[in-house]
Amino acid sequence: MSRAGARGDPLADIVADDLAAGRVSRVVTRFPPEPNGYLHIGHAKSICLNFGLAARFGGRCHVRLDDTNPAREESRYAAAIERDVRWLGFDPGALVYASDHFDALYGYALHLIDNGLAYVDDQSADEIRARRGALTEPGVDSPWRDRDPAENRRLFERMRAGEFPAGARVLRARIDMASGNLNLRDPVLYRILHRPHPRTGDRWPIYPTYDFAHGQCDAIEGVTHSICTLEFEDHRPLYDWLIDRLPTPHSPRQHEFARLELSRTPLSKRRLAKLVADGHVSGWDDPRMPTLAGLRRRGVPPEAIRAFCATLGAGKRGGQVEIQALDHCVREALDRRAPRRMAVLRPLRVVIENYPEGRVEWFDAPDFPRDPAAGSRRVPFSRELYIERSDFMEDPPRKYFRLAPGREARLRYACIVSCREAVRDSAGEIVELRCAFDPATRGGAAPDGRKVRGTLHWVSAAHAREAEARLIAPLFREDSPPPDAAPDPDSLRAVRARVEPALADAAPGAAFQFERLGYFARDTAPGPLAFNRAVALRDSWSRARAG
Ligand code: ATP
Ligand code: MG
Repeated sequence: MSRAGARGDPLADIVADDLAAGRVSRVVTRFPPEPNGYLHIGHAKSICLNFGLAARFGGRCHVRLDDTNPAREESRYAAAIERDVRWLGFDPGALVYASDHFDALYGYALHLIDNGLAYVDDQSADEIRARRGALTEPGVDSPWRDRDPAENRRLFERMRAGEFPAGARVLRARIDMASGNLNLRDPVLYRILHRPHPRTGDRWPIYPTYDFAHGQCDAIEGVTHSICTLEFEDHRPLYDWLIDRLPTPHSPRQHEFARLELSRTPLSKRRLAKLVADGHVSGWDDPRMPTLAGLRRRGVPPEAIRAFCATLGAGKRGGQVEIQALDHCVREALDRRAPRRMAVLRPLRVVIENYPEGRVEWFDAPDFPRDPAAGSRRVPFSRELYIERSDFMEDPPRKYFRLAPGREARLRYACIVSCREAVRDSAGEIVELRCAFDPATRGGAAPDGRKVRGTLHWVSAAHAREAEARLIAPLFREDSPPPDAAPDPDSLRAVRARVEPALADAAPGAAFQFERLGYFARDTAPGPLAFNRAVALRDSWSRARAG
């Protein structure tokens, strides 16, 4: 166990050991997304690890956009990635692109060719795949494997000059077609692709593969610890093979950690892109999406995501994390920062029959009841109010402490009311409660000390604003939804709520606790007043853990 490394943080142990042994003088890490979609909470784990290690050991971390496949990538994604990294709380500095290094990578390819370590193969992609062999069966050498280096160089230069159609030839490393590691069976380093690139335009008709670009970009940028997810563990021998044979300015080393998997939530850009393309969600920032843009729009604060990622550790042991673990972090963060407000999701009209018509009283309501000094706002009270439909029962069980005919309940911050009768419409549905208030209970306290256990939220009918409240659940019902599963249609339910007037001025993105209902944030899209529920209040997660 090293000095700086904490238990359960193997990456930190590795870095600490490398520093202590003098193998590295300053830590450099990078976060390397492909700009083919928006970042999701799985990426947040990687961002927190990479930036976290650099910060902890006094090093630096940058963002490199892995833009080696112009068939899939768009510049709007790069802009979204930069914004989301910043929002999460990290400074991406000047963005670096793999394409910044295309000239250097080309030079490295020539170096391999000249040293007999790479060759141009004229086989088709299908032929190459068919001859790759299997785990228990060696591959078959390409008929072009022993080409003379000079001829390889000429052919590769002609590939670079754009003389051949896509798929006609590739450049392959010359390693070992019988290797037990399939990644070492002469992997493809360059392919022909006649397609304009968002940054380099028409300059390159050939593009490096991930395996060739990634490690060499790390090396050029001075990365010391190249951190990636476990599926690249089998690529590490190739990573090292290339670094060890090329005249790179630095020799980074790759280290792996387990990718984040969340219950009921796909974390793959391909699957998320399909949800967008198929119209199952309104976009990458749909408040149900596990993207950083979606979480932000839902009202999840960045510190909640950082706190969640901090609970994950950096080990190689994977396994699915319960989505409730994230909800728990969201509640903890919002409890501290979200002022309390009153809103009624499913309104039931209440008439206080002994309250004068036309009279309005403004009650002081604290933003944070546990900390009255932290500010307050005033809420209007009048003869006609709305309460939550679920706060009335005509024939309640004994332990129901809300309103029922003949029973009392407290209206938060205002007074105690008793219910006289429920009024029905012609269809038999309850549409109104007739109540009376007790003038001696102004503010909500009973002077005679009688016990009133139920406290309800409410809004004044004449002062309330209409707003859409969106109740959000995970996109899928199954813990691990099959790839073709359609999302749960109930994952977003919009209700017409009535909210206290102070909420009409809420800034886009501002988060509140709607008392007794959960944490909501004002939607950031232009349009009528709307709030997205970041998380409900009930915390079955921490209770389950405590119990
Ligand atoms: P996706 O499958 O969502 O497209 P990816 O790995 O192809 O993911 P990249 O843009 O290549 O996406 O990822 C950038 C970095 O983020 C990589 O280092 C990758 O390992 C990491 N990453 C991606 N998904 C996760 C995840 N679920 N948990 C942790 N790290 C992740
Ligand atoms: Mg990828």
